[in-house]
Amino acid sequence: MCGIVGIVDAGGVSFPLYYALYALQHRGQESAGITTFNGTQLFKHKGQGLVSEVFDASVLSSLKGNVGVGHVRYPTTGAKIPENVQPFNFTFQGKNIAVVHNGNLTNTVELRNYFEEDRGQTFCTTTDTELIGKIIVDELRVSNSMTDAVLACMKKLEGSYSVVVLVDDKVYAFRDPLGIRPLCLGKTHEGHIVCSESVAIDALNGEFIRDVNPGELVTISASGVESVQIAEASSHALCIFEYIYFARADSVIDGQLVYDVRRRIGKSLHLEAPIDADIISPVPDSGTAHATGYSESSGIPFREGLIKNRYMGRTFIMPTQKMRENAVRIKLNPVKKHLNGKSVVLVDDSIVRGTTSRRLVDLVRAAGARAIHMRVGSPAIIAPCYLGVDMPTREELIASKLSCEEVREKIGATTLHHISIESLIRATGHNYDDLCLGCLTGEYPLCIKGEKSCPRHIDFIAGTYQSDLDEFKPKK
Ligand code: AMP
Repeated sequence: MCGIVGIVDAGGVSFPLYYALYALQHRGQESAGITTFNGTQLFKHKGQGLVSEVFDASVLSSLKGNVGVGHVRYPTTGAKIPENVQPFNFTFQGKNIAVVHNGNLTNTVELRNYFEEDRGQTFCTTTDTELIGKIIVDELRVSNSMTDAVLACMKKLEGSYSVVVLVDDKVYAFRDPLGIRPLCLGKTHEGHIVCSESVAIDALNGEFIRDVNPGELVTISASGVESVQIAEASSHALCIFEYIYFARADSVIDGQLVYDVRRRIGKSLHLEAPIDADIISPVPDSGTAHATGYSESSGIPFREGLIKNRYMGRTFIMPTQKMRENAVRIKLNPVKKHLNGKSVVLVDDSIVRGTTSRRLVDLVRAAGARAIHMRVGSPAIIAPCYLGVDMPTREELIASKLSCEEVREKIGATTLHHISIESLIRATGHNYDDLCLGCLTGEYPLCIKGEKSCPRHIDFIAGTYQSDLDEFKPKK
Protein backbone atom coordinates (compact mmCIF):
# COMPACT_ATOMS: atom_id res chain seq x y z
CA MET A 1 0.00 0.00 0.00
CA CYS A 2 1.01 3.62 -0.28
CA GLY A 3 -0.49 7.08 -0.10
CA ILE A 4 -0.08 9.57 -2.94
CA VAL A 5 -0.91 13.23 -3.44
CA GLY A 6 -0.45 15.97 -6.03
CA ILE A 7 -1.28 19.65 -5.54
CA VAL A 8 -1.26 22.77 -7.70
CA ASP A 9 -1.99 25.83 -5.57
CA ALA A 10 -1.06 29.47 -6.08
CA GLY A 11 -0.31 29.82 -2.36
CA GLY A 12 2.58 27.27 -2.42
CA VAL A 13 2.39 23.53 -1.98
CA SER A 14 5.02 22.22 0.44
CA PHE A 15 3.00 22.67 3.65
CA PRO A 16 -0.29 21.47 2.05
CA LEU A 17 1.54 18.37 0.73
CA TYR A 18 2.92 17.74 4.22
CA TYR A 19 -0.52 17.98 5.84
CA ALA A 20 -1.99 15.76 3.15
CA LEU A 21 0.71 13.12 3.70
CA TYR A 22 0.11 13.36 7.44
CA ALA A 23 -3.55 12.49 6.78
CA LEU A 24 -2.46 9.54 4.62
CA GLN A 25 0.16 8.23 7.06
CA HIS A 26 -1.89 5.07 7.73
CA ARG A 27 -1.25 4.01 4.10
CA GLY A 28 2.50 3.67 4.65
CA GLN A 29 4.94 4.25 7.45
CA GLU A 30 8.21 3.12 5.92
CA SER A 31 9.20 6.32 4.10
CA ALA A 32 7.90 9.68 2.92
CA GLY A 33 8.84 12.19 0.24
CA ILE A 34 7.84 15.44 -1.44
CA THR A 35 8.94 16.98 -4.77
CA THR A 36 7.97 20.51 -5.80
CA PHE A 37 8.53 22.64 -8.91
CA ASN A 38 8.97 26.42 -8.86
CA GLY A 39 8.86 27.20 -12.57
CA THR A 40 12.50 26.43 -13.22
CA GLN A 41 13.64 23.51 -11.10
CA LEU A 42 12.60 20.62 -8.86
CA PHE A 43 13.01 20.74 -5.07
CA LYS A 44 12.94 17.41 -3.27
CA HIS A 45 13.19 15.87 0.14
CA LYS A 46 12.56 12.26 1.08
CA GLY A 47 13.64 9.80 3.69
CA GLN A 48 12.83 6.69 5.68
CA GLY A 49 10.44 7.05 8.61
CA LEU A 50 7.14 8.73 9.43
CA VAL A 51 6.08 12.02 7.83
CA SER A 52 6.79 13.83 11.12
CA GLU A 53 10.29 12.33 11.23
CA VAL A 54 11.20 13.06 7.62
CA PHE A 55 10.06 16.72 7.46
CA ASP A 56 10.41 19.80 9.63
CA ALA A 57 9.53 23.46 9.07
CA SER A 58 12.90 24.41 7.63
CA VAL A 59 12.87 21.52 5.15
CA LEU A 60 9.33 22.40 4.09
CA SER A 61 10.28 26.07 3.63
CA SER A 62 13.02 24.99 1.24
CA LEU A 63 10.57 23.09 -1.00
CA LYS A 64 9.56 25.95 -3.24
CA GLY A 65 6.85 26.29 -5.85
CA ASN A 66 3.14 26.02 -6.54
CA VAL A 67 3.20 22.50 -7.98
CA GLY A 68 4.19 19.31 -6.18
CA VAL A 69 3.66 15.64 -5.41
CA GLY A 70 4.11 13.54 -2.27
CA HIS A 71 4.21 9.93 -1.20
CA VAL A 72 4.11 7.69 1.88
CA ARG A 73 5.38 4.18 1.29
CA TYR A 74 4.50 0.72 2.47
CA PRO A 75 6.69 -1.43 0.26
CA THR A 76 5.17 -4.26 -1.78
CA THR A 77 7.55 -4.36 -4.77
CA GLY A 78 11.17 -3.33 -4.24
CA ALA A 79 13.39 -3.54 -1.19
CA LYS A 80 13.46 -1.13 1.76
CA ILE A 81 16.44 0.83 0.41
CA PRO A 82 16.82 4.62 0.21
CA GLU A 83 16.83 4.55 -3.62
CA ASN A 84 13.26 3.20 -3.57
CA VAL A 85 11.81 6.08 -1.58
CA GLN A 86 9.38 8.08 -3.73
CA PRO A 87 8.82 10.51 -5.45
CA PHE A 88 10.94 9.13 -8.25
CA ASN A 89 12.51 12.24 -9.86
CA PHE A 90 14.22 12.65 -13.21
CA THR A 91 14.59 14.98 -16.19
CA PHE A 92 13.85 14.19 -19.79
CA GLN A 93 14.47 16.46 -22.78
CA GLY A 94 14.44 19.49 -20.50
CA LYS A 95 11.26 18.45 -18.68
CA ASN A 96 11.32 18.05 -14.89
CA ILE A 97 9.37 14.94 -13.91
CA ALA A 98 8.38 13.33 -10.58
CA VAL A 99 6.29 10.16 -10.25
CA VAL A 100 4.42 8.70 -7.26
CA HIS A 101 2.50 5.45 -7.36
CA ASN A 102 0.13 3.43 -5.20
CA GLY A 103 -0.44 -0.14 -6.24
CA ASN A 104 1.47 -3.14 -7.44
CA LEU A 105 2.25 -4.17 -11.00
CA THR A 106 2.02 -7.86 -11.83
CA ASN A 107 4.19 -7.68 -14.99
CA THR A 108 7.17 -5.88 -13.44
CA VAL A 109 9.63 -8.60 -14.43
CA GLU A 110 8.54 -8.68 -18.09
CA LEU A 111 8.63 -4.91 -18.41
CA ARG A 112 11.98 -4.64 -16.71
CA ASN A 113 13.47 -7.36 -18.91
CA TYR A 114 12.21 -5.54 -21.97
CA PHE A 115 13.77 -2.21 -20.99
CA GLU A 116 17.04 -3.73 -19.81
CA GLU A 117 17.64 -6.47 -22.34
CA ASP A 118 16.02 -5.13 -25.50
CA ARG A 119 16.54 -1.43 -24.95
CA GLY A 120 19.71 -1.40 -22.85
CA GLN A 121 18.23 0.97 -20.29
CA THR A 122 19.49 1.34 -16.75
CA PHE A 123 17.42 1.57 -13.56
CA CYS A 124 18.15 3.48 -10.36
CA THR A 125 15.63 1.63 -8.16
CA THR A 126 14.03 -1.79 -7.83
CA THR A 127 10.48 -0.38 -7.80
CA ASP A 128 7.71 -0.86 -10.31
CA THR A 129 7.20 2.93 -10.15
CA GLU A 130 10.38 3.54 -12.12
CA LEU A 131 8.92 1.44 -14.94
CA ILE A 132 5.94 3.77 -15.10
CA GLY A 133 8.40 6.66 -15.53
CA LYS A 134 10.21 4.75 -18.28
CA ILE A 135 7.01 4.06 -20.23
CA ILE A 136 5.90 7.68 -19.92
CA VAL A 137 9.15 9.14 -21.31
CA ASP A 138 9.35 6.46 -23.97
CA GLU A 139 6.05 7.71 -25.32
CA LEU A 140 6.74 11.43 -24.74
CA ARG A 141 9.82 10.91 -26.90
CA VAL A 142 7.65 10.19 -29.95
CA SER A 143 4.36 11.96 -29.37
CA ASN A 144 5.03 14.66 -26.74
CA SER A 145 1.51 14.03 -25.43
CA MET A 146 0.71 12.99 -21.86
CA THR A 147 -2.60 11.53 -23.04
CA ASP A 148 -0.65 9.21 -25.33
CA ALA A 149 1.88 8.49 -22.58
CA VAL A 150 -0.87 7.49 -20.15
CA LEU A 151 -2.56 5.43 -22.84
CA ALA A 152 0.77 3.66 -23.35
CA CYS A 153 0.90 3.00 -19.60
CA MET A 154 -2.62 1.63 -19.51
CA LYS A 155 -1.87 -0.70 -22.40
CA LYS A 156 1.37 -1.99 -20.98
CA LEU A 157 0.92 -2.00 -17.21
CA GLU A 158 -0.76 -4.98 -15.61
CA GLY A 159 -1.80 -4.80 -11.98
CA SER A 160 -3.01 -1.97 -9.81
CA TYR A 161 -1.88 1.61 -10.17
CA SER A 162 -3.06 5.00 -9.05
CA VAL A 163 -0.38 7.38 -10.25
CA VAL A 164 0.39 11.09 -9.89
CA VAL A 165 3.01 12.61 -12.22
CA LEU A 166 4.45 16.10 -12.06
CA VAL A 167 5.69 17.39 -15.41
CA ASP A 168 6.98 20.93 -14.90
CA ASP A 169 4.02 23.11 -13.93
CA LYS A 170 1.32 20.45 -14.30
CA VAL A 171 0.14 17.51 -12.22
CA TYR A 172 -1.29 14.49 -14.04
CA ALA A 173 -3.21 11.80 -12.18
CA PHE A 174 -4.55 8.52 -13.47
CA ARG A 175 -6.16 5.42 -12.08
CA ASP A 176 -5.93 1.94 -13.57
CA PRO A 177 -8.93 0.91 -15.71
CA LEU A 178 -10.23 -1.40 -12.98
CA GLY A 179 -9.94 1.28 -10.26
CA ILE A 180 -8.26 -1.14 -7.87
CA ARG A 181 -6.73 1.58 -5.69
CA PRO A 182 -8.60 4.74 -4.74
CA LEU A 183 -7.85 8.26 -6.05
CA CYS A 184 -9.90 11.41 -5.64
CA LEU A 185 -9.97 15.04 -6.63
CA GLY A 186 -10.61 18.14 -4.56
CA LYS A 187 -10.39 21.91 -4.43
CA THR A 188 -7.86 23.61 -2.21
CA HIS A 189 -7.74 27.28 -1.17
CA GLU A 190 -6.18 28.50 -4.42
CA GLY A 191 -5.99 25.38 -6.55
CA HIS A 192 -6.62 21.65 -6.72
CA ILE A 193 -5.49 18.37 -5.16
CA VAL A 194 -5.53 14.70 -6.17
CA CYS A 195 -4.94 12.18 -3.41
CA SER A 196 -5.46 8.57 -2.35
CA GLU A 197 -8.21 9.34 0.16
CA SER A 198 -10.58 12.23 0.83
CA VAL A 199 -9.18 12.71 4.37
CA ALA A 200 -6.20 14.47 2.76
CA ILE A 201 -8.60 17.02 1.23
CA ASP A 202 -10.28 17.45 4.62
CA ALA A 203 -6.88 18.08 6.24
CA LEU A 204 -6.45 21.11 3.97
CA ASN A 205 -9.97 22.32 4.66
CA GLY A 206 -10.56 21.73 0.96
CA GLU A 207 -13.63 20.63 -0.91
CA PHE A 208 -14.09 17.09 -2.20
CA ILE A 209 -15.01 17.19 -5.91
CA ARG A 210 -15.21 13.52 -6.93
CA ASP A 211 -13.33 10.27 -7.30
CA VAL A 212 -11.01 9.98 -10.29
CA ASN A 213 -12.73 7.41 -12.51
CA PRO A 214 -11.02 4.14 -13.27
CA GLY A 215 -9.19 4.62 -16.59
CA GLU A 216 -9.37 8.43 -16.38
CA LEU A 217 -6.52 10.93 -16.72
CA VAL A 218 -6.96 14.19 -14.83
CA THR A 219 -4.67 17.16 -15.50
CA ILE A 220 -4.30 19.94 -12.96
CA SER A 221 -2.64 23.24 -13.80
CA ALA A 222 -2.84 26.84 -12.62
CA SER A 223 -5.78 27.31 -14.98
CA GLY A 224 -7.85 24.45 -13.55
CA VAL A 225 -8.68 20.78 -14.13
CA GLU A 226 -9.05 18.87 -17.38
CA SER A 227 -10.04 15.25 -17.83
CA VAL A 228 -9.91 12.61 -20.51
CA GLN A 229 -11.20 9.05 -20.24
CA ILE A 230 -8.39 6.89 -21.60
CA ALA A 231 -9.78 3.41 -21.04
CA GLU A 232 -13.03 1.79 -20.01
CA ALA A 233 -13.34 -1.65 -18.45
CA SER A 234 -16.36 -3.96 -18.65
CA SER A 235 -16.49 -3.73 -14.84
CA HIS A 236 -14.24 -2.41 -12.10
CA ALA A 237 -12.38 -4.06 -9.21
CA LEU A 238 -12.00 -1.77 -6.20
CA CYS A 239 -9.98 -3.55 -3.51
CA ILE A 240 -12.39 -4.85 -0.85
CA PHE A 241 -9.68 -4.48 1.78
CA GLU A 242 -9.78 -0.69 1.45
CA TYR A 243 -13.26 -0.84 3.02
CA ILE A 244 -12.51 -3.64 5.48
CA TYR A 245 -9.27 -2.36 6.94
CA PHE A 246 -6.96 -0.18 4.96
CA ALA A 247 -8.65 3.17 4.37
CA ARG A 248 -9.37 5.60 7.17
CA ALA A 249 -12.94 5.31 8.47
CA ASP A 250 -13.54 9.01 7.76
CA SER A 251 -12.64 8.71 4.06
CA VAL A 252 -15.22 8.56 1.29
CA ILE A 253 -14.16 6.05 -1.36
CA ASP A 254 -16.04 5.63 -4.63
CA GLY A 255 -19.09 7.27 -3.10
CA GLN A 256 -19.16 5.40 0.22
CA LEU A 257 -18.12 6.70 3.63
CA VAL A 258 -15.84 3.93 4.90
CA TYR A 259 -17.27 4.27 8.43
CA ASP A 260 -20.79 3.56 7.09
CA VAL A 261 -19.60 0.48 5.21
CA ARG A 262 -17.95 -0.87 8.38
CA ARG A 263 -21.02 -0.07 10.49
CA ARG A 264 -23.21 -1.97 8.02
CA ILE A 265 -20.75 -4.88 8.18
CA GLY A 266 -21.12 -4.86 11.99
CA LYS A 267 -24.92 -4.87 11.67
CA SER A 268 -24.78 -7.87 9.33
CA LEU A 269 -22.39 -9.64 11.68
CA HIS A 270 -25.07 -9.38 14.35
CA LEU A 271 -27.86 -10.54 12.04
CA GLU A 272 -25.78 -13.48 10.82
CA ALA A 273 -24.41 -14.49 14.23
CA PRO A 274 -26.42 -13.04 17.13
CA ILE A 275 -25.29 -13.91 20.63
CA ASP A 276 -26.39 -13.15 24.16
CA ALA A 277 -23.54 -11.07 25.62
CA ASP A 278 -22.87 -8.30 28.14
CA ILE A 279 -20.77 -5.94 26.05
CA ILE A 280 -19.64 -5.32 22.46
CA SER A 281 -15.97 -4.46 22.49
CA PRO A 282 -13.93 -3.42 19.46
CA VAL A 283 -10.34 -4.20 18.73
CA PRO A 284 -9.22 -0.57 18.37
CA ASP A 285 -9.03 1.15 16.01
CA SER A 286 -9.59 -1.24 13.13
CA GLY A 287 -12.72 -2.90 14.60
CA THR A 288 -14.35 0.18 16.13
CA ALA A 289 -16.77 1.14 13.35
CA HIS A 290 -17.76 -2.51 12.84
CA ALA A 291 -18.43 -2.85 16.58
CA THR A 292 -20.75 0.19 16.68
CA GLY A 293 -22.86 -1.51 13.99
CA TYR A 294 -23.05 -4.76 15.97
CA SER A 295 -23.99 -2.84 19.11
CA GLU A 296 -26.69 -0.75 17.38
CA SER A 297 -28.23 -3.82 15.78
CA SER A 298 -28.14 -5.99 18.91
CA GLY A 299 -28.90 -3.34 21.52
CA ILE A 300 -25.99 -4.68 23.58
CA PRO A 301 -23.86 -1.82 24.98
CA PHE A 302 -20.66 -0.79 23.21
CA ARG A 303 -17.88 -0.75 25.81
CA GLU A 304 -14.18 -0.63 25.17
CA GLY A 305 -12.44 -3.59 26.74
CA LEU A 306 -9.09 -2.78 25.16
CA ILE A 307 -7.44 0.63 25.08
CA LYS A 308 -4.86 1.38 22.47
CA ASN A 309 -1.58 3.11 23.11
CA ARG A 310 -1.98 5.60 20.30
CA TYR A 311 1.74 6.32 20.08
CA MET A 312 2.62 2.91 18.81
CA GLY A 313 2.79 1.89 15.17
CA ARG A 314 0.97 -1.01 13.59
CA THR A 315 2.10 -4.38 14.92
CA PHE A 316 2.00 -5.66 11.38
CA ILE A 317 5.05 -3.65 10.34
CA MET A 318 7.27 -5.44 12.88
CA PRO A 319 9.73 -7.52 10.88
CA THR A 320 9.62 -10.78 12.85
CA GLN A 321 6.82 -12.93 14.20
CA LYS A 322 8.30 -12.74 17.73
CA MET A 323 8.32 -8.93 17.64
CA ARG A 324 4.75 -8.88 16.34
CA GLU A 325 3.61 -11.11 19.20
CA ASN A 326 5.19 -9.00 21.93
CA ALA A 327 4.01 -5.78 20.33
CA VAL A 328 0.33 -6.65 20.80
CA ARG A 329 0.63 -6.42 24.60
CA ILE A 330 2.33 -3.03 24.47
CA LYS A 331 -0.17 -1.73 21.96
CA LEU A 332 -3.41 -2.81 23.64
CA ASN A 333 -4.18 -2.79 27.35
CA PRO A 334 -7.28 -4.61 28.69
CA VAL A 335 -9.72 -2.68 30.91
CA LYS A 336 -10.24 -5.32 33.62
CA LYS A 337 -13.28 -3.59 35.12
CA HIS A 338 -15.12 -3.79 31.78
CA LEU A 339 -14.16 -7.40 31.10
CA ASN A 340 -14.11 -9.25 34.42
CA GLY A 341 -16.89 -11.84 34.60
CA LYS A 342 -18.42 -10.61 31.33
CA SER A 343 -19.47 -12.33 28.16
CA VAL A 344 -17.78 -10.23 25.48
CA VAL A 345 -18.35 -9.86 21.74
CA LEU A 346 -14.90 -8.92 20.46
CA VAL A 347 -15.09 -7.29 17.02
CA ASP A 348 -12.11 -6.98 14.68
CA ASP A 349 -11.81 -6.15 11.00
CA SER A 350 -9.91 -9.23 9.84
CA ILE A 351 -7.83 -12.24 10.77
CA VAL A 352 -4.76 -12.60 8.56
CA ARG A 353 -2.08 -14.73 10.21
CA GLY A 354 -4.11 -15.20 13.39
CA THR A 355 -1.30 -13.98 15.64
CA THR A 356 -3.11 -10.84 16.77
CA SER A 357 -6.43 -12.57 17.47
CA ARG A 358 -4.82 -15.30 19.56
CA ARG A 359 -3.00 -12.72 21.67
CA LEU A 360 -6.11 -10.58 22.04
CA VAL A 361 -8.25 -13.48 23.14
CA ASP A 362 -5.55 -14.39 25.70
CA LEU A 363 -5.46 -10.81 26.99
CA VAL A 364 -9.23 -10.52 27.30
CA ARG A 365 -9.53 -13.91 29.00
CA ALA A 366 -6.71 -13.04 31.43
CA ALA A 367 -8.67 -9.89 32.30
CA GLY A 368 -11.52 -12.14 33.52
CA ALA A 369 -13.92 -12.42 30.56
CA ARG A 370 -16.01 -15.60 30.92
CA ALA A 371 -16.81 -15.89 27.21
CA ILE A 372 -15.21 -14.31 24.13
CA HIS A 373 -17.29 -14.27 20.96
CA MET A 374 -15.06 -13.18 18.11
CA ARG A 375 -16.86 -11.41 15.22
CA VAL A 376 -14.80 -10.55 12.18
CA GLY A 377 -15.55 -7.88 9.55
CA SER A 378 -14.09 -9.84 6.66
CA PRO A 379 -14.75 -13.34 5.36
CA ALA A 380 -11.90 -15.82 5.83
CA ILE A 381 -8.79 -14.61 3.97
CA ILE A 382 -7.67 -17.58 1.96
CA ALA A 383 -5.41 -16.22 -0.78
CA PRO A 384 -2.56 -13.73 -1.12
CA CYS A 385 -2.84 -10.23 -2.59
CA TYR A 386 -0.84 -9.45 -5.74
CA LEU A 387 -2.31 -5.99 -6.14
CA GLY A 388 -0.82 -3.91 -3.37
CA VAL A 389 -1.95 -5.11 0.07
CA ASP A 390 0.75 -6.69 2.18
CA MET A 391 -1.06 -10.01 2.45
CA PRO A 392 1.26 -12.96 3.10
CA THR A 393 1.66 -16.24 1.26
CA ARG A 394 -0.98 -18.98 1.51
CA GLU A 395 1.19 -20.83 4.05
CA GLU A 396 1.04 -17.86 6.44
CA LEU A 397 -2.70 -17.22 6.06
CA ILE A 398 -4.37 -19.07 8.92
CA ALA A 399 -7.68 -19.58 7.07
CA SER A 400 -6.05 -21.01 3.95
CA LYS A 401 -5.33 -24.24 5.80
CA LEU A 402 -7.77 -24.34 8.69
CA SER A 403 -11.58 -24.40 8.86
CA CYS A 404 -13.44 -21.74 10.85
CA GLU A 405 -13.84 -24.20 13.73
CA GLU A 406 -10.11 -24.99 13.67
CA VAL A 407 -9.24 -21.28 13.64
CA ARG A 408 -11.61 -20.73 16.59
CA GLU A 409 -9.83 -23.44 18.51
CA LYS A 410 -6.41 -22.09 17.60
CA ILE A 411 -7.17 -18.51 18.72
CA GLY A 412 -9.05 -19.75 21.81
CA ALA A 413 -12.35 -17.92 21.23
CA THR A 414 -15.68 -19.24 22.61
CA THR A 415 -17.34 -18.70 19.22
CA LEU A 416 -16.06 -17.27 15.93
CA HIS A 417 -17.97 -15.84 13.00
CA HIS A 418 -16.73 -14.17 9.80
CA ILE A 419 -19.10 -12.01 7.76
CA SER A 420 -20.37 -13.74 4.61
CA ILE A 421 -19.19 -12.49 1.24
CA GLU A 422 -22.80 -11.65 0.27
CA SER A 423 -23.38 -9.41 3.32
CA LEU A 424 -19.98 -7.80 2.88
CA ILE A 425 -20.71 -6.88 -0.73
CA ARG A 426 -24.13 -5.52 0.24
CA ALA A 427 -22.47 -3.37 2.93
CA THR A 428 -20.13 -1.79 0.36
CA GLY A 429 -22.99 -0.67 -1.88
CA HIS A 430 -21.07 -1.96 -4.92
CA ASN A 431 -21.80 -4.83 -7.31
CA TYR A 432 -19.93 -8.10 -6.94
CA ASP A 433 -18.37 -7.48 -10.38
CA ASP A 434 -16.99 -4.08 -9.39
CA LEU A 435 -14.84 -5.33 -6.49
CA CYS A 436 -11.56 -7.19 -6.24
CA LEU A 437 -12.25 -10.09 -3.87
CA GLY A 438 -9.06 -12.01 -4.71
CA CYS A 439 -7.93 -12.53 -1.11
CA LEU A 440 -11.37 -13.90 -0.17
CA THR A 441 -12.20 -16.05 -3.20
CA GLY A 442 -8.82 -16.82 -4.79
CA GLU A 443 -10.20 -15.43 -8.08
CA TYR A 444 -8.57 -12.23 -9.33
CA PRO A 445 -9.87 -9.51 -11.70
CA LEU A 446 -6.83 -9.88 -14.00
CA CYS A 447 -4.61 -12.73 -15.10
CA ILE A 448 -2.09 -13.83 -12.49
CA LYS A 449 0.15 -16.78 -13.23
CA GLY A 450 -0.96 -19.91 -11.39
CA GLU A 451 -4.17 -18.31 -10.06
CA LYS A 452 -7.82 -18.35 -11.14
CA SER A 453 -9.04 -15.15 -12.70
CA CYS A 454 -12.06 -13.42 -14.17
CA PRO A 455 -10.33 -10.75 -16.31
CA ARG A 456 -12.25 -7.60 -17.24
CA HIS A 457 -12.43 -6.53 -20.87
CA ILE A 458 -10.76 -3.15 -21.44
CA ASP A 459 -11.49 -0.73 -24.30
CA PHE A 460 -8.97 1.99 -25.03
CA ILE A 461 -10.86 5.02 -26.16
CA ALA A 462 -8.51 8.00 -26.29
CA GLY A 463 -5.17 9.07 -27.67
CA THR A 464 -3.28 8.12 -30.79
CA TYR A 465 -0.91 5.64 -29.23
CA GLN A 466 0.23 2.88 -31.56
CA SER A 467 3.02 0.65 -30.49
CA ASP A 468 3.77 -2.97 -30.96
CA LEU A 469 2.33 -4.59 -27.86
CA ASP A 470 4.01 -7.89 -28.69
CA GLU A 471 7.28 -6.52 -27.40
CA PHE A 472 5.82 -6.68 -23.91
CA LYS A 473 4.93 -10.35 -23.96
CA PRO A 474 6.80 -12.37 -21.31
CA LYS A 475 10.16 -13.64 -22.46
CA LYS A 476 10.69 -17.38 -22.71
P1 AMP B 1 -2.89 -11.14 12.17
O1 AMP B 1 -4.11 -12.00 12.08
O2 AMP B 1 -2.06 -11.38 13.35
O3 AMP B 1 -2.06 -11.28 10.92
O4 AMP B 1 -3.32 -9.62 12.29
C1 AMP B 1 -4.48 -9.19 11.68
C2 AMP B 1 -4.72 -7.74 12.02
O5 AMP B 1 -3.72 -6.91 11.40
C3 AMP B 1 -6.06 -7.30 11.47
O6 AMP B 1 -7.03 -7.33 12.46
C4 AMP B 1 -5.80 -5.89 10.98
O7 AMP B 1 -6.17 -4.97 11.98
C5 AMP B 1 -4.35 -5.84 10.69
N1 AMP B 1 -4.06 -6.03 9.26
C6 AMP B 1 -4.72 -6.76 8.37
N2 AMP B 1 -4.13 -6.71 7.15
C7 AMP B 1 -3.09 -5.90 7.26
C8 AMP B 1 -2.09 -5.41 6.35
N3 AMP B 1 -2.07 -5.79 5.09
N4 AMP B 1 -1.16 -4.57 6.83
C9 AMP B 1 -1.15 -4.21 8.12
N5 AMP B 1 -2.06 -4.62 9.02
C10 AMP B 1 -3.02 -5.45 8.62
